[in-house]
Amino acid sequence: MKYISTRGQAPELTFEEAMLTGLARDGGLYVPAEIPTMTKDEIADLAGKSYEEVAYRVMRPFVGDSFSGDEFRAIIDRAYAVFGHDARAPLVQLNENHYLLELFHGPTLAFKDFAMQLIGQLFQVALKRRNDRVTIVGATSGDTGSAAMEAFKGLDAVDVFILFPDGRVSEVQRRQMTTPQESNVHALALDGDFDDCQAAVKEMFNDFGFRDGVKLAGVNSINIARVLAQVVYYFTSAVSLGAPHRKVSFTVPTGNFGDIFAGFIAKQMGLPIDRLVVATNQNDILHRCLSGQGYHKGETIPSISPSMDIQVSSNFERALYFAYGRDGNAVAQLMDELKSGGGFEVSRGAMEALGEQYDSGRVSEDETLATIKSTLASSGELLCPHSAVGVMVGEAQRDAAIPMITLATAHPAKFPAAVEEASGVHPPLPSRMSDLYERSERMTRVANDLGVLQSHIKEHIAK
Ligand SMILES: *Cc1c(COP(=O)(O)O)cnc(C)c1O
Repeated sequence: MKYISTRGQAPELTFEEAMLTGLARDGGLYVPAEIPTMTKDEIADLAGKSYEEVAYRVMRPFVGDSFSGDEFRAIIDRAYAVFGHDARAPLVQLNENHYLLELFHGPTLAFKDFAMQLIGQLFQVALKRRNDRVTIVGATSGDTGSAAMEAFKGLDAVDVFILFPDGRVSEVQRRQMTTPQESNVHALALDGDFDDCQAAVKEMFNDFGFRDGVKLAGVNSINIARVLAQVVYYFTSAVSLGAPHRKVSFTVPTGNFGDIFAGFIAKQMGLPIDRLVVATNQNDILHRCLSGQGYHKGETIPSISPSMDIQVSSNFERALYFAYGRDGNAVAQLMDELKSGGGFEVSRGAMEALGEQYDSGRVSEDETLATIKSTLASSGELLCPHSAVGVMVGEAQRDAAIPMITLATAHPAKFPAAVEEASGVHPPLPSRMSDLYERSERMTRVANDLGVLQSHIKEHIAK
């Protein structure tokens, strides 16, 4: 299995190489050169299997020769053993034809654990075999950083440094980053906002001397291995509702488009998905684009679903690549326009192609709060604000004949202030992490200064 860049100008790579590289050298994102398919019988045969077994069968063709079958099985088992629910991704029913896929039973209570736990183990095995090590540096507004630290802690082939804006993440998010005691993970509280954190990371990647010196690697959501890990729960949930003999639809609270793009891959593989619905908050660039208004950046307005507060949706480039008939030059041109002019128009043909794959909806702050309240009353399910955005759109767009599955992307206890405001209920942490507030914290406050950051990282990587 080969991986090629959405901009068509970077070398073809294996799964392992694409995973360790992250961003392609031409600025594009890696996608599988061909998407493998599963027959109806192969999909039917997933019924009743464990999450790990389904993960193995769905992902195996993408991994190719990079890992042996036994190696890959062991990696999957280690990745998901730390989850707090035996089903890993349980499905609960909200009403007659609307289901919630709970993706928040991992160690940091957000769906990002599904991919991050897996690539932690994949990195460790690949780097050990190469007798190599890397330094992962990432910026986070909360969920990605905590998932990365949790996944990579204690793995001796990797050092992890996560930059977060000092004082601007929720207390649960901060504690999830500052309480792991393993010496290879480092929480850096930067004196600045999230954009400053991202800019600092970008500058480090562009400083080739530093980049090569510390062997910098990235695990943000453009990493193809992360996207592929997320394909699995589309299969487990659809099969539990009767696929391949029955169609299902999905609604996905969306920011960087990684999670919903995994649904697109599942559909290409042969899973009978009727509709893939993108749900956005007030930062609605994707909804505007899918409604035919072009792709134009605006101001990011902070919301109560902060993990979806984006103005440029990085994985949308992959959707465009397929919508433009795999034309890397066309994608490269759009991305140049985005960089120079802050936006672009989508061609009529590509709009039609996008329209065949995706629907969309937008939810205001008030509607988000009202959905948390009404869903608790009607089903007893307490939603996080991101999941509430999904449930509102999913409910509006579902039809009577085809089950709608909405992805619940985080646990309500990760966003207690908004949940309590909406419902009057303070969401408790799951018992397995109820001591989070007592654990001791470890973090370094750093100035927003590239030189200072780089010296800090150099001094603290294992030699
Ligand atoms: C990251 C995140 C999202 C958005 O996912 P994308 O793959 O970026 O579209 C939604 N909800 C939560 C809780 C998240 O952490």
